[in-house]
Amino acid sequence: MDDIILEVNGLSKNFPIRKGIFSRTVGYVRAVSDVSFSMRRGEIFGLVGESGCGKSTTGRTILNLLTPSAGSVVFNGHELFNVERKRRIDPTEMRGLRKEMQIIFQDPYASLDPRMNVGAIISEGMVKHGMYRRAEALERAKELLELCEMPAASIHKYPHEFSGGQRQRIGIARALALEPSFIVGDEPIAALDVSVQAQVLMLLQDLIAKLSLTTLFISHDLGVVRYFCDRIGVMYLGSFVEMADSEALFARPAHPYTQALLSSMPKNTPDEQKQKIILEGDVPSPANPPSGCRFHTRCRCRQEICSQQTPLLREIEPGHCVACHLA
Ligand code: SF4
Repeated sequence: MDDIILEVNGLSKNFPIRKGIFSRTVGYVRAVSDVSFSMRRGEIFGLVGESGCGKSTTGRTILNLLTPSAGSVVFNGHELFNVERKRRIDPTEMRGLRKEMQIIFQDPYASLDPRMNVGAIISEGMVKHGMYRRAEALERAKELLELCEMPAASIHKYPHEFSGGQRQRIGIARALALEPSFIVGDEPIAALDVSVQAQVLMLLQDLIAKLSLTTLFISHDLGVVRYFCDRIGVMYLGSFVEMADSEALFARPAHPYTQALLSSMPKNTPDEQKQKIILEGDVPSPANPPSGCRFHTRCRCRQEICSQQTPLLREIEPGHCVACHLA
C-alpha cells in the first residue's frame, strides 16, 4: 500500500552486559523485543509506557541511530536494514534518507551544542546536505525560527541565553531544517516546565498539520498521547501489549496493563478516582524478563497459562490488537 511510509517488522534491540577485565559479555538487556507496526503517511502514532519500557530505543533504532539486533525497517520503500537477511542500507543512500527522517530530543539542554550559536545550529545540516549556501541557510534559519514562534534575531545568540521552552523550539527548528517527512518526537515536552508544555505541544501540532509530517510521538504521558495521537501502541518491557486507534484504546482498553495505566490518569470525581488499579511490584529487569507473558508478575488477572505461554498480539476488533491470553 503506497500510503504506508514506515514498516517495522520484528524489531529487537539487545544491549550486551559486559563484566570483568576482559569485558566479556555475560548477558543482554533486552530493551526492545519483536516490535512490529506500520505507519500511514501523515499519521501521528504514539508510543506510550512506563520509563524504561523501550519506547526511546525503538524510535532510535528505527532511525538507524542504534544498531538493531533483529528485524527490519522499510521507510518510504527503502529497506534501512534487515538483520535476518544481513542487509543494511548503503551509507550514501542513508545520508540522503537522513534528511527525510529527523528527531526532536527530550532534553533541550543536552541536545544543543553550547559552543555554537543558534544560526549555526539550525543551518549546519542544510549546508552539509548541500541544500543551501551558508548565507542562504542562515536566512532560512531565521524563517524556521519565526515558524517556531521565536524572533529571527535569535540566530546570533547561544543556547544558554534561552529558557527550556525556547531551546526546545530551537530544537524543533533544527529538526525541520532538512524538510523531513518523518519525525520522531522523543518525549519532546517531558523536560519542560508544566507552564510551557502546552504551548510547545500546540506548536508541534500546528507544524505537523502545516507540513504534513508523519510523526512517531514517544511519551509516558497518557493525557498527552490521547490529545495528540491518531493511533497508540502501549509498550511493556520492550514489547507491544496493545495497539489501537486513540479513541478505541481509551474507550475499550483490553489489556490489564493498559487498564491500570488508564485508571491512574486524573479523574473528574472522587468516585472515579477510587477505581484506580494499583500495579503490584516493580517492573522486572529487561536483562531477565519473566517467562510467558512479561506482565504476569504484576497482573491481577493472571492464570496458570500466563507464565508458560507468551501471548501473541492479535486483533480483537478491526485495528485493535492485544497481547493477552484472556482478551
Ligand atoms: Fe495478565 Fe495473563 Fe493477560 Fe498477561 S496474558 S496480561 S498475565 S491475563
